[in-house]
Amino acid sequence: MKAYKDLSKDELLKLKDELTQQYEDKKALGLRLNMARGKPAAAQLNLTMDMLDTVNSASDMLASDGTDSRNYGCLDGLPETKKLMADMMGTNPENVIVFGNASLTIMYDSVSRSYTHGVCGNTPWCKLDKVKWLCPVPGYDRHFAITEHFGIEMINIPMTQDGPDMDLVEKYVNNDESVKGIWCVPKYSNPQGVVYSDETVKRFANLKPAAKDFRIYWDNAYVIHHLYDDNQAELLDIVGECAKAGNPDMVYEFASTSKVSFPGSGIAAMATSAANIADVKKTMTIQTIGHDKINQLRHVRYFKDINGLKAKMKAHAEIMRPKFEATLKVLEDELSGLEVGTWVKPYGGYFISFDAMEGCAKRIVSLCKEAGLVMTGAGATFPYGRDPKDSNIRIAPSFPTPDEMEQAADLFALCVKLASVEKLLETK
Ligand code: PMP
Repeated sequence: MKAYKDLSKDELLKLKDELTQQYEDKKALGLRLNMARGKPAAAQLNLTMDMLDTVNSASDMLASDGTDSRNYGCLDGLPETKKLMADMMGTNPENVIVFGNASLTIMYDSVSRSYTHGVCGNTPWCKLDKVKWLCPVPGYDRHFAITEHFGIEMINIPMTQDGPDMDLVEKYVNNDESVKGIWCVPKYSNPQGVVYSDETVKRFANLKPAAKDFRIYWDNAYVIHHLYDDNQAELLDIVGECAKAGNPDMVYEFASTSKVSFPGSGIAAMATSAANIADVKKTMTIQTIGHDKINQLRHVRYFKDINGLKAKMKAHAEIMRPKFEATLKVLEDELSGLEVGTWVKPYGGYFISFDAMEGCAKRIVSLCKEAGLVMTGAGATFPYGRDPKDSNIRIAPSFPTPDEMEQAADLFALCVKLASVEKLLETK
């Protein structure tokens, strides 16, 4: 098939008629499909149901250090839970605080604490005229929502295949004292599936921030979320790299078992330096007497160690992989050669990122919606919901069944074609 841009006006008009007919036919099917959010499917949640049997009325409720998990106390997590989460993140238990059921809460709390009380004795951000934040794009909408909520000015940093554009990151961080943080999803990034290269991680660790209270928000949400057995990305340990570079306090790392056990009922943790742990705990001790240790015990008794987590992720991958492959096959079969969009095959994580022709993303998402397919809103992968090129669309293949996913991808591809033809006709 010829690239659409090389078609004449007459050819485009004819194609538009054909595509419109196909679209109307699809619409008449009354489909109800959803590729909007990165949620595990019920089949994945079923994988962990037997975890609920590991702690019951007959269980010994004492942790390894004798802590009664049923009672108050143990602010920063049971020793065995710290070890499990440390092994997941590739760091040491001394660097870990275990929090509650979700990592997003820890990230929100970290920004909030810095805003009201400051970072390690520095001026609270609420007292500063300007606070800025670097946002690699496309990125995760809920990250951007947190910084927007606190009135922090967000600056787009383009992503490359190796991670964020580090020349730009260094320029901002090393020269502008009002830059206080950066959102990073370093492994199987949301939404592109990019893995930060060793060089990128080392450049992060060797930043020379103008602001003493600059922190890297290293959201390792997909740290063990591989899709393939034989193609698993390795990521350097940022906490260790920062310590080696003489910047031990520069990073907060986050992770959770949301997409290992149950979203909303997992365990979440932060890894960072001793000084940061002491600083965080000052606020934490005001917020809570301790998190849900019964859930911590349940997870540790079930997964036992990092190998238990990895084995479960293999089972998740068995369910996820066919959906990713079905989607990618449809994109390949329907769109390759047309020059109406680009995408990259991810090896882990929860998303496929699609870049449409400039000015087409909103139209594609709205065509999908009209025909019964809900996608993540166009623009959501950018701060303030504003994609300057109106091009990026996040595809979340995890929730539908493989059959539904194929139908959804088919409809999506059709909408991409139709929107692209409409766009090209504007200039013919
Ligand atoms: N970070 C990223 C990058 C995510 O994609 C998600 C879930 N979509 C989360 C955090 C949410 O994690 P949690 O359930 O631990 O809050």
